[in-house]
Amino acid sequence: MLLLSVNLFLNTLRMSKSVAVIGAGIGGLAIAIRLSLKGYQVTIFEKNSYAGGKLNQIEKDGFRFDTGPSLLTLPESVIELFELAKKDYRDYLEFTKLSSTCKYFYSDGTEINAYSEPEKFAEEIAEKTSDKKSDVLMFLDSNKRKYQLTSEIFIFNSLHKIKNYFKKEVINGIINIKDVDVFRTMNQANSTLFHDKKTIQIFNRYATYNGSNPYKAPATLNIISHLEHNEGAYIAKGGMYSIIKSLLDLCNQLSIKIEYNSNIEEIVTKNNKVIGLKIDNKIKEFNTVVNNMDVINTYKKLLPNYKVPNYLTNQEGSSSALIFYWSINRNFPKLDLHNILFSDNYKKEFDYIFTEKEIYKDPTVYIYISSKYNKSDAPDGMENWFVMINTPYNEDQDWDKLIDQSRKNIIKKINSFLKVDIEQNIISEEILDPRSIETKTSSYRGSLYGNSSNSKFSAFLRHPNFSNKIKGLFFCGGSVHPGGGIPLALASAKIVSQMFDKNH
Ligand SMILES: Cc1cc2nc3c(=O)[nH]c(=O)nc-3n(C[C@H](O)[C@H](O)[C@H](O)COP(=O)(O)OP(=O)(O)OC[C@H]3O[C@@H](n4cnc5c(N)ncnc54)[C@H](O)[C@@H]3O)c2cc1C
Repeated sequence: MLLLSVNLFLNTLRMSKSVAVIGAGIGGLAIAIRLSLKGYQVTIFEKNSYAGGKLNQIEKDGFRFDTGPSLLTLPESVIELFELAKKDYRDYLEFTKLSSTCKYFYSDGTEINAYSEPEKFAEEIAEKTSDKKSDVLMFLDSNKRKYQLTSEIFIFNSLHKIKNYFKKEVINGIINIKDVDVFRTMNQANSTLFHDKKTIQIFNRYATYNGSNPYKAPATLNIISHLEHNEGAYIAKGGMYSIIKSLLDLCNQLSIKIEYNSNIEEIVTKNNKVIGLKIDNKIKEFNTVVNNMDVINTYKKLLPNYKVPNYLTNQEGSSSALIFYWSINRNFPKLDLHNILFSDNYKKEFDYIFTEKEIYKDPTVYIYISSKYNKSDAPDGMENWFVMINTPYNEDQDWDKLIDQSRKNIIKKINSFLKVDIEQNIISEEILDPRSIETKTSSYRGSLYGNSSNSKFSAFLRHPNFSNKIKGLFFCGGSVHPGGGIPLALASAKIVSQMFDKNH
């Protein structure tokens, strides 16, 4: 009898210190590291045979492509994980701050270098457009203030814990709500200050960094240009995927178990408490689960007894993408690491994406060439092109037809902007589209960033980092608070880990 009680006690103790994480996206890896450092025994279940989720890579015939994220801001959110583990991140990763974050091309032949350094960038805008250097500097300064007023409220703390509303940063944000610029759209704010369509287009583009529409999203999102120009944009040696590799090394050193090819079929609950995970029709016992899978698909597929909250499905999803990974058999000195070939009608492009749910015939084309920085990403004299356009999320459009048409439109545009016949230089091709994004990562409808920020209330309508219905269930990653993109997915993991201090 005594032995049975001791065994029961030990089992309860073991269960209370063990945590399951669903998904090895960057958010899943980060929460696993944070909880392991707090003494929890962590097991990650990943449905794919690889980690990283949207942050992945393709290696093919001497070419390497990052398949998802290409630009990193706030690298300190990655570095912090190594610091917590008392490791020097430089033993795992090397970040370089970019001197120019993007090269912009327009159909009239204008080229604008978005230098990271604000003064130089403002001078470039003043030289190439009718806008003033002082206005650019004032704009970047005001965006810095917006960031200072909002980041503690909207990014680094839970919006769903009442006590956070009494913090001095929140009260300060509320007092200065006018400077947060939540009541105008990005486009309204940007076209009030700037006069030149080219400048407005550059700053409106930042809405796409979380899959939103600048003609609907609040001007608060202008904080993104602050991060890129005042704080800096970075590239990692070995490409973006090296971030995942370094986190996997850290997981390994912390003895975090990662079970690949493990598709979780259900989060099993009893009396509104987590009791385990169903996998291959068997139940593995856990009373604490952190879910890194897209939140809407989690409700739809893993929680059969719970309805997707209406506030989630009533929000507009973020945009998706169509990406061609082209092995190119020559060099293009005119192109930089990040390049944008702008549409002539930006408004129409967004109307197509968010209203028509189609792809505009003159899309803005983004070309990321990591081999400009990582020479080993392509054979000598060649380049690895990641060619992306923003698209609507998947609503069962005729994607094969859309891909075929868009490929032709993209090639026509590249040929006219770069004065080439690019088809001649493509030696191989891979494609990612909204359907395959959903299949590979379980992202609802293939949206890149969960729900969009197309309404001034969006920040308040993201799913919390915990379930208020199911005890023992937590959420991290780009589809929940504070939102999509690497730094925010990492911030969500930090918020969840702080909840463990209190809950356990
Ligand atoms: C094309 C593209 C470009 C992007 N560009 C940028 C950029 O430049 N900068 C930036 O910061 N961000 C960018 N992003 C967004 C960024 O990639 C994401 O916000 C971030 O990677 C999301 O991480 P996550 O933690 O939410 O997990 P995800 O990457 O969504 O991973 C979730 C993981 O869960 C696993 N999973 C799902 N369901 C199950 C299940 N039932 N059982 C087990 N495992 C499961 C999936 O296989 C996956 O590995 C881009 C995304 C894409 C796709």
